Amino acid sequence: MIDHHDDMDGHDVRSYSTSLLKQAFKEYYFNYTAMVEVPDAIQEREFGYSRFDGTMVRHLSIRDRNELIALLMVNVPSDVYCSVAYYTSPSRSMEEKGLKAADLIFDIDVKELKPRCSSTHDIHICAECSEPIQEGSSYTATCSRCGSRRINHVIFPCDECISLGKREVKKLVEILVDDFGVDEDNIKVYFSGNYGFHVYVKGRYTMLDAAARLEVVNYILGRGLVDALKKRYGKKRSKEKKRRKRDSKSSSRSSNSSSSRNSMHASIRKGKSDDLNSYGNGSDGSDDVYIPRPIFDGVHGWMGRIGRYLTAGDAHVSMKSIEDAILALSARVDPNVTIDMHRIFRLSGTLNSKSSLAKIQMPRLSDIDSFNPFTDACLISDREVNVYVINAPRFTLKGNQFGPYMHEEVRLPLYTASYLICKGIAYAKQPSKV
Ligand SMILES: [Zn+2]
Ligand SMILES: [Zn+2]
Repeated sequence: MIDHHDDMDGHDVRSYSTSLLKQAFKEYYFNYTAMVEVPDAIQEREFGYSRFDGTMVRHLSIRDRNELIALLMVNVPSDVYCSVAYYTSPSRSMEEKGLKAADLIFDIDVKELKPRCSSTHDIHICAECSEPIQEGSSYTATCSRCGSRRINHVIFPCDECISLGKREVKKLVEILVDDFGVDEDNIKVYFSGNYGFHVYVKGRYTMLDAAARLEVVNYILGRGLVDALKKRYGKKRSKEKKRRKRDSKSSSRSSNSSSSRNSMHASIRKGKSDDLNSYGNGSDGSDDVYIPRPIFDGVHGWMGRIGRYLTAGDAHVSMKSIEDAILALSARVDPNVTIDMHRIFRLSGTLNSKSSLAKIQMPRLSDIDSFNPFTDACLISDREVNVYVINAPRFTLKGNQFGPYMHEEVRLPLYTASYLICKGIAYAKQPSKV
């Protein structure tokens, strides 16, 4: 087989791929106008978009739905964003916008959950010459063809990856509803269009300032809880141990357990001294700290949540089991996204240029289990085009299986072609050449 890769002019290939992609996106915006979400208080939002040449436009204000749709049709952006904030003057400079409020948002990135399956489906290709990098540690790999050490990691999410993300969404929603009293009607869940989920909270939570948002994130991550428990019980370790030996039942509740719980909640909210990834590590001999089991019983919030997770019956629990419980029960949200109120965030109903899938909303929270992004968010047309695929694993889109491919020319539906082109592992071919 001829190595098309060698004899193609890089510039032509890129520009033809870009024009095919732009055409695919244009058709989407023409056919799926109704999918595009018009945000509430649209005139108070800042809009921005990226072009296929990589440039970006920000600080736009849009009057109404018609103007928004016109922008998509005329400019055919590669990505479209809308502020989470509501501003007095959204098109002015950051300092002059006048922040009024902001949706409380959470970002769950499946990549950060480090799915075990990624090694079975992700691929690595050389950033310089697009040569596929085979097995072995991709972090230390060198391209066998050009010697470059710049390797692109290309993510091919599978159903298992998506299930991991859904699990975090469910934990997050549970904490928001049970502990923060958020009305389910005010929670909106979206698939990001690539490898994650976005959760928006509307209503009175839009008034929280950045510091309060940080407290909310700390709480959701269970930060500070381990330190608070260690502080309360760690020093009495030997005494607790003796007591534990003496009375293995120990069902009597300590008289000040209620106040210690309150101070623990305060510590969690403030995220005291635990850093981003320290929860659940148990690296400093925390195994030796034992906590009386009854303080977890019949209470709300984190302590009750941990109590329900732990096996019943033990008189004391090790700090290690508590750390494991927090790790299992916390929702792995990206703190930076929630804290940043000035962020512009992908607009629902628009396409993600990393995948050509659409960011879409789950109509109801209960729909999340049956939601399949590879069908429900794959909305590019079925017409067939010719592409040259450098490397791709086996994957499924719209219920059809594709791949694996390795340096080959294939005729594919446009939705599959654009998926691969967006990932930087396929080129559009001139139709006349095939
Ligand atoms: Zn190379
Ligand atoms: Zn996977």
